[in-house]
Amino acid sequence: MTLTAQTSTTTSYDLGPACALACRACGHRSDLAAEFACPQCFGPLEIAYDFGRITREDIERGPRSIWRYQGLLPVPSTVADHPNTDPGCTRLLRADRLGAALGIKNLWVKDDTGNPTHSFKDRVVAVALAAARELGFTVLACPSTGNLANATAAAAARAGWDSVVLVPASLERAKILMTAVYDTNLLACEGTYDDVNRLATELAFEQEDWAFVNVNVRPYYAEGSKTLGYEVAEQLGWRIPAQTVIPIASGSQLTKVDKAYGELAALGLVEDSPYKVFGAQAAGCSPVSTAFAEGTDVVRPQKPDTIARSLAIGNPADGPYVLDAVRRCGGVVTDVTDEEIRDGIRLLARTEGVFAETAGGVTVANAKKMVESGALDPDADTVLLITGDGLKTLDAIEHQVGPKATIPATSKAVREALGL
Ligand SMILES: *Cc1c(COP(=O)(O)O)cnc(C)c1O
Ligand SMILES: [Zn+2]
Repeated sequence: MTLTAQTSTTTSYDLGPACALACRACGHRSDLAAEFACPQCFGPLEIAYDFGRITREDIERGPRSIWRYQGLLPVPSTVADHPNTDPGCTRLLRADRLGAALGIKNLWVKDDTGNPTHSFKDRVVAVALAAARELGFTVLACPSTGNLANATAAAAARAGWDSVVLVPASLERAKILMTAVYDTNLLACEGTYDDVNRLATELAFEQEDWAFVNVNVRPYYAEGSKTLGYEVAEQLGWRIPAQTVIPIASGSQLTKVDKAYGELAALGLVEDSPYKVFGAQAAGCSPVSTAFAEGTDVVRPQKPDTIARSLAIGNPADGPYVLDAVRRCGGVVTDVTDEEIRDGIRLLARTEGVFAETAGGVTVANAKKMVESGALDPDADTVLLITGDGLKTLDAIEHQVGPKATIPATSKAVREALGL
C-alpha cells in the first residue's frame, strides 16, 4: 500500500490540537505527517499545538485513561472510539514510609506498573497507534529494550493490526514471553539495542506501511509521556510537584514531563509555580549523567552494561534536551550501581508494597543519592516515577530474596525458624 502521509503535503489530518511539526534544532515548521527529521537540518521534530480553551472540568469529565487529556495530545477527536489499550490513570501513592527511609517529608510514588502491559510504555504506544491510524499506516512496529515490545505487541493485537517487534537477543526472558504471547512477529536480533535501533531506522524507509512507534512516528509517540506529568498534577489536586525524579533511557519521558508541566501552567490549569526535574540513570549506562557531571552539552555514546536493561540506551536521542531541561530548572542527573538498583527495588517493596522493575530501582536509588548530596530538597514535595513492574525483571533479585527457611509443616518448626 502507498503511504499518503509521505506522498502528499496537502492532506490534512484530524490530529486534535496538533497543528504542525516543529524542528527542535532550527525551529523550521512543516505540515503534520509521518516525518521525524527536519527537512532543513535533520534535527528532531516535535509536535506544535494550537490549544483551544481547556478547563479542569473538561478533563475531569473525561474517561479514566490517558484519553481524558485528548485535548492536549496529537490524536483524533474520536480516539476513544477505536480499540486501543487505554492506559493511564494509574495510582499516585502517598509514600510516607519510603519518605522516612529516604529523609523526604512529602513523597509520592507514581505507580505506572498498573498499566495494561505493566509499564509506562503503554502510554506512548497508545498515542502512537492513534496517530498512526490517522496517518494511514497499517502495521505497528518497534525496536525495543523490552517494555516497548510488550506494549506494541499488545496494542496491535487489540487493534487487530499486524506488528513487527525487534529486540536484542539478550533480553530478559519475561520480556520476550510477555511480547511473544500476543502473537506478534518478534525477531530477536544479534547486537545491542543501538544496533537494533539502527536497523529499525533503515526499515522505516523501506517498509512504507510500517509505523515504527519510536522511529518514524516518534514525534507523536513521544507526546504520550506528557500524560504522566498531567496525571501527577491532576492527582495532586491540580498542582505541579516541586521535584520529580525521572528515569532516563532515550530521555524522551523526562523532556515530555517537563513539557507537560509547562503546558498546564501556560493553559492556566495549574498555578505557575517553580519546579525541578531530576534525571536517573544506571552507572552501567550513564551517557547523560556523565555529560551532566562534566558540564558539557555533548552526550557521548556508551556501550551499556547494567541490569537496568529497559534503560540501556547507550546513544540517547533526547540526551541533549534532557540536559537543557534539567539545567534550566536547577535539577541534576545522577547514576547508581547495579547493587544500589537492587537495594532500591527492595527498599520500595519493603516500605510501600510496590514491586518495581530495575528502572524503578534506578529512580529510588538515585533519589536516595540526591537527598544525600543535597541536590533534592527534603522539605519540598517530591514525586518518584516508578515506570515498570518487577515481574518483568525477576532475575535482577533472584539471588537477593527468598524464603527465610525451608521447614516441616509444624507450628514448632515455625516458632524455631522465627526465633519465637
Ligand atoms: C522506556 C522506559 C523508560 C524511559 O524511557 P525514555 O526513552 O527515556 O522516554 C523508563 N522506564 C521504563 C520502565 C521504560 O521501559
Ligand atoms: Zn531543523
